[in-house]
Amino acid sequence: TLSDRITSAVANLRGRGRLSDAEISASIAEIRRALLDADVALPVVREFTASVREKAAAAELSQVLDPAQQIVKIVHEELTRILGGETRDLHMAKRGPTVIMLAGLQGAGKTTLAGKLGRWMKEQGHSPLLVASDLQRPNAVQQLEIVGKGAGVAVWSPEPGNGVGDPVEVARTGVAHAKEQYYDVVVVDTAGRLGVDAELMQQAADIRDAVQPNEILFVIDAMIGQDAVTTAQAFADGVGFTGVVLSKLDGDARGGAALSVASVTGAPVMFASTGEKVGDFERFHADRMASRILDMGDVMTLIEQAERAFDEEQAAELANKIAGDGDFTLEDFLQQMQQMKQLGSMKKMLGMLPGMGQIREQLENFDEREVDRVEAIVRSMTPAERRNPKLINGSRRSRIARGSGTTVTEINQLMQRFDQAKTMMRSMARGGGGMAGAMAGG
Ligand code: GDP
Repeated sequence: TLSDRITSAVANLRGRGRLSDAEISASIAEIRRALLDADVALPVVREFTASVREKAAAAELSQVLDPAQQIVKIVHEELTRILGGETRDLHMAKRGPTVIMLAGLQGAGKTTLAGKLGRWMKEQGHSPLLVASDLQRPNAVQQLEIVGKGAGVAVWSPEPGNGVGDPVEVARTGVAHAKEQYYDVVVVDTAGRLGVDAELMQQAADIRDAVQPNEILFVIDAMIGQDAVTTAQAFADGVGFTGVVLSKLDGDARGGAALSVASVTGAPVMFASTGEKVGDFERFHADRMASRILDMGDVMTLIEQAERAFDEEQAAELANKIAGDGDFTLEDFLQQMQQMKQLGSMKKMLGMLPGMGQIREQLENFDEREVDRVEAIVRSMTPAERRNPKLINGSRRSRIARGSGTTVTEINQLMQRFDQAKTMMRSMARGGGGMAGAMAGG
């Protein structure tokens, strides 16, 4: 992957004293190859490597960091810059509803995103309305209705009087309805085609002119590869957009699309869609994505997601447990595993922890049902045992195994992993290897 390749390119420099120009050049060449292999567009790669080289040459004077650290820092800065720098907030309407229009190819993830965006806005106290202006794809309207229901967000669909058969009319009446009913955010889902198509562009442009959106978000499948730039350019020319949403970032996208689209169109990446569920959605942070590409982990995103899924008190408690070397009990261990499970995909969460490049394989083998087994075991313990695992001797282990329908071997394994988790949690709090290893290693 891109992150593996770049990590190893800079890892060769780590822990060294002075670097020769040749060594720096070799690393930059390797990063260049990695970017090209990850489908980053050539002009973007050229600009990237040129500015890394330039900054590396200029950085010679700095004595604070060792040379390898300086290169890593420069690469990180450049990746961040290319990805759009600091995340800006959505442009909101000063009066009347804020209109957010979604554009992109069919299958890009627009309808799914409409639900995610709607729910996210709702979480922030807005009252959103989703408008089904995709009349192209069979079932798109029905799909949006289902998505809206799942997200707890109202949907405006084509009906007699709402412009059956005419997407522009549906969009227009949808926004009018929002005004009347005091919805303050309108998300307009539009049609896509399988490829770029003049008629489609015209339709999107007509919808744009009819509803005067505050934001046009171009949704692009992160797995699309080299086509990303041409597609993005076509939408930039045909409809124009103010921000980019990368969808399917959960897949084995090579990450090149992210780098290319933002750089070529100059529109920032604003959101990331990371799964099929309504909660698989996050604000995009260029610096965190750069860290992820450099395999520095993405602990901030992890914590933010955790905060969304847990209530704040729980989150603060967890943060304390992770940071301190206080009394982390089996109950905490279980609670934590449950919370993670609740977040949807544990694999994805663990993938954000630092140092994951090396144990990706273990992660692949992670079994979410493990959480249920752990739960059964912990539930079969007495409160005293949960607080003080040292109490759990041989005969107690047999009792717990009987109670939980497991075996003594499984109890032993759990105890071992609990100990590892405890140790690793502490090292994670200090920026080390993470508890992922302990949890994935079952
Ligand atoms: P649209 O044609 O642009 O409206 O695309 P859809 O929203 O219908 O999405 C197309 C397919 O991709 C559907 O099967 C979605 O469930 C799936 N999908 C959308 N977003 C994501 C994502 O972030 N991750 C994954 N894995 N699948 C997604």
